[in-house]
Amino acid sequence: MIPKDTIDQVIHTLQIEDVLSDFIKITRKGSIYSALCPFHNEKTPSFVVYPATNTYKCFGCGQAGDAIQFVRKHKDLSFPETIKYIASKYQIPVPERQRTDEEIERDQKAEQIKAIYELAADFYVEQLNDTNLPAAVDARIYITSRLSDEAVTNWKIGFASAEWGSFAKFALQKGWPESLLIESKLVKRSDKTNSLFDFFRERIIFPITDKAGRITSFAGRVLPGENQQVKYLNLPENDHYHKKEILYGLSKASREIKSHGNVFLVEGYTDVIRMHELGFINTVAASGTAFTTEQLSLLSPLTKKITLLGDGDNAGLNAMLKSGKRIAEPRMHPYGVFLPKKKNPTDAFTATEQA
Ligand code: ZN
Repeated sequence: MIPKDTIDQVIHTLQIEDVLSDFIKITRKGSIYSALCPFHNEKTPSFVVYPATNTYKCFGCGQAGDAIQFVRKHKDLSFPETIKYIASKYQIPVPERQRTDEEIERDQKAEQIKAIYELAADFYVEQLNDTNLPAAVDARIYITSRLSDEAVTNWKIGFASAEWGSFAKFALQKGWPESLLIESKLVKRSDKTNSLFDFFRERIIFPITDKAGRITSFAGRVLPGENQQVKYLNLPENDHYHKKEILYGLSKASREIKSHGNVFLVEGYTDVIRMHELGFINTVAASGTAFTTEQLSLLSPLTKKITLLGDGDNAGLNAMLKSGKRIAEPRMHPYGVFLPKKKNPTDAFTATEQA
């Protein structure tokens, strides 16, 4: 943690025109500066920098703020990272405040829960490959009819059996305390029988990673032929994971999104995987939510252009229009690809090349 005094010193030392000119070309016009806005596409400058107030405003897209907000947005940094970046520019030393016991405990717990997720992912992968489990064999036949063996391995797709507490039992044997297993949400305690049981049962399991590629959650798909209401069951959120801040596939896709200057937004987990298999690695999906502004802020440092690929049915169309509206608000550039009925996003690409 950075001491408040240091933060104040950074804020009072920085000059917005110095900081911004590291990123964009600004031109002096009397007491202000003008520039082409880095947050939307334009040919004539509508981005104004005010040295007097250390602020900026774009009259084209409405983006406004101070130097810290600009650097955060432009470099996709956290607040402390931004303070450190600007401090080093002005050679201001940054003493790190000792973390409180509470903060240390919280970080440790988050790490432990991620370790439980790693363990669970391996457990589910092993179950998918267990030839003694007839349901696992069916699940494997189904998933490999849609995805290659390589993709199933790369994306760590697994299987949760119908047994009530097989992961709970396995994790307890590995020495994980019950309290942490329950906090991970993968394990629950039954009020009726007072025994532990697994959240996912008889489902194909998709691990979900954060932008750094670490597993932060799971989704479970029903087996084909099962007549359950919820096709995809998402692990409930915990203190360390918020699904509105996650995009499925982002850790694999981010470099390609940046180099292509475009991201394909699809609806489902398997759509993402199939797009990646077809070579369109710049593809992600909102996992288990409508597209959120938090998810948008994960993409906006990488590209301003988002191409929505919806399923060719009404639900897909509606979801796409809703996302398009949200994306258009902060002046990103949404493009929609409307697919014919009963066509999946990947069908559109099986015979075409990416521009
Ligand atoms: Zn602008």
